[in-house]
Amino acid sequence: MRLLSTTVCLLLMVCALGCRKAAEHTGAAQGQYHAVATVGMVRDLVENIAGEKAFVQSLMGAGVDPHLYKPTRDDVARLIRAKIVFYNGLYLEGKMIDVLEKIGAKKPVHAVAANLQEQYLLYPDGMSAHPDPHVWMDVSAWIKAAREVEQALIAFDPTNAQLYRTNAAAYIGQLEQLDSYGKRVMATIPEESRILISSHDAFNYFGRAYNIEVMGVQGLSTESEAGLRRINELVRMIVERKVKAVFVESSVPRKSIEALIAGVRARGGELEIGGELFTDAMGEEGTYEGTYIGMMDHNLTTVARALGGEAPVRGMQGRLGHERE
Ligand SMILES: [Zn+2]
Repeated sequence: MRLLSTTVCLLLMVCALGCRKAAEHTGAAQGQYHAVATVGMVRDLVENIAGEKAFVQSLMGAGVDPHLYKPTRDDVARLIRAKIVFYNGLYLEGKMIDVLEKIGAKKPVHAVAANLQEQYLLYPDGMSAHPDPHVWMDVSAWIKAAREVEQALIAFDPTNAQLYRTNAAAYIGQLEQLDSYGKRVMATIPEESRILISSHDAFNYFGRAYNIEVMGVQGLSTESEAGLRRINELVRMIVERKVKAVFVESSVPRKSIEALIAGVRARGGELEIGGELFTDAMGEEGTYEGTYIGMMDHNLTTVARALGGEAPVRGMQGRLGHERE
């Protein structure tokens, strides 16, 4: 941590001398300001509301795990160059907090989950200090995050307030459609199959929003290794309740889910992988799944179908599963 702080300080000093030059290389077009987001979901949100006014970069790409992510020197340089910074908050970016706080002394740095009410937040077992950070998995919470970004951009750039309001209203309209699609298709899963098992505890808000029981093999952060006892517990439950499918996640190694499948088969049960879900990172850039709406459409559609519910194979708007668009 100390080393990191020194790096930040050094870069801040170097930047005071050379940033004017560096700003020319951010990729921002004429008249655009440079915004930085930590994860892709936050970048997508900011892009949708800032529109053409901002050039938005994210530090973590597809398949990257934000719980374990440590900022690189390039990341710190990007944060220093940025005019405004957005992150999820609720300790999702656990190893970046120090850097974000330092940067926050110099420029606007916003946690998009900041305005969620205390009574909305979940504190799963043994996590009394930190609420569960995976709020984007409930689209209605992401609508509140969109409001947060709208307010932050209006405060940062009041001249374009009307544009940010218009963009936010349009995007929130799309999110509302996504939320009601999710509720509709998830409701078609038969009562006895309403259980979602995945690699880590990313689905607590998802489960509450879309009415399905959730269990993760690992804890809330991917940092904790799944214990043998936890695996055995789950194997017993899966066999007893005849759970048909479990899910892997794009940003978490499959090891623990494979252990689960092996355990169930050893007891003579059958269990398959119901699909790969996007939890802490979106799909590949340039694909529909590489957007927040595409990622959640994929998750809702995949879970509903794998657990015996009804959902169109290509999702809410027929765009799932295509290669680059
Ligand atoms: Zn996570």
